[in-house]
Amino acid sequence: MARTALELGCETVQIFSRSPRGGKAKELSLPDVEKMRSVLEEGGIYPLVVHIPYYVNLASDDPDTRSYSIDVLVEDLRRTEVLGGKYLVTHVGHRRKEEPPESADALARVYTSLEEALGRYDGPVRILLENTSGMGREIGYTFEALGALVRSFPESQVGACLDTAHAFAAGYDWTEPDGVRKILTYFDRHVGLSRLGAMHLNDAKGTLGGRLDRHAHIGQGNLGEETFRRILTSDLLPDDLPGLLETPIDDYGDDLSNMKKIRSLRDS
Ligand SMILES: [Zn+2]
Ligand SMILES: [Zn+2]
Repeated sequence: MARTALELGCETVQIFSRSPRGGKAKELSLPDVEKMRSVLEEGGIYPLVVHIPYYVNLASDDPDTRSYSIDVLVEDLRRTEVLGGKYLVTHVGHRRKEEPPESADALARVYTSLEEALGRYDGPVRILLENTSGMGREIGYTFEALGALVRSFPESQVGACLDTAHAFAAGYDWTEPDGVRKILTYFDRHVGLSRLGAMHLNDAKGTLGGRLDRHAHIGQGNLGEETFRRILTSDLLPDDLPGLLETPIDDYGDDLSNMKKIRSLRDS
C-alpha cells in the first residue's frame, strides 16, 4: 500500500486495517509496519487515515452486535495507533426499522457506544464520525444529528469527516450558486469546522436528496468539476485539510486520473 501510494504520488492515504467485510483481524507484523511507516514518511504522505469496517453498527439495539461493534472500534483505534494513523473514520450507524429517520434513541445508542469505546482507549488517535447519505436505515446524514454526537465529546477525541457525495445524497446542494459557502457555514454552525479532520472527495451518481450512496468519478457525477473547484479553493477550509478519494475503479488507472483531475481543480 505504502509503495503504491508513493508511486501514485499521494499526499495522504486512507486504508482499512483489516478486511472491511468481516472476519477476525490479522495481527499486524511490526517489521512490516515499520517499513510502511518509513515509506510513507519518505514520500511525505500524511496523515494516514484508517476506515473502520462496514459491518460495525454503533447504533444497534442488539446487545451482541453492539458490544462486538464497540470491540472492533476499540481494536481498530489501537491498530490505527500502531500503524501511525491520525484518524479512524467511523460511520454513525443504522437505526431500527420502526424508528424514525435520525431517531433520537438510535443516536443515543451511538453516544453510549462511543462513550464506552473511549473509556477503553485513551491514545492519540481521533475518531472522525462520517456524515452518511441516509440510505436505508442509515443515521447521521443531517449535520444536526452528526453535530449533536460529535459535540458531546472533547475535540481531542472525536471529530468529523465530510463526504461530499453523501452530503449531496442527503440533500445538501453543493451545486447551487454559493452552495459551497452555505453548506460549509451550516456545517460550521452544527458540527464545527474546527472538528473537521478530513474530507471524502467523491462525485455522486445519485440525485440531490435521493439518499443513494453511489460514488462517481470526479467531474462525471451530479456535482461536477466546477463544484469541486469551488470546494477545493474555498477559504473556509484550511489548506492542509486531508482530502481522500473514494471514487470507483472501473478501469485500470482510474485512481490516478481522478487524483490528477482533483489536483488540477485545486491548483486552478
Ligand atoms: Zn465511509
Ligand atoms: Zn466516505
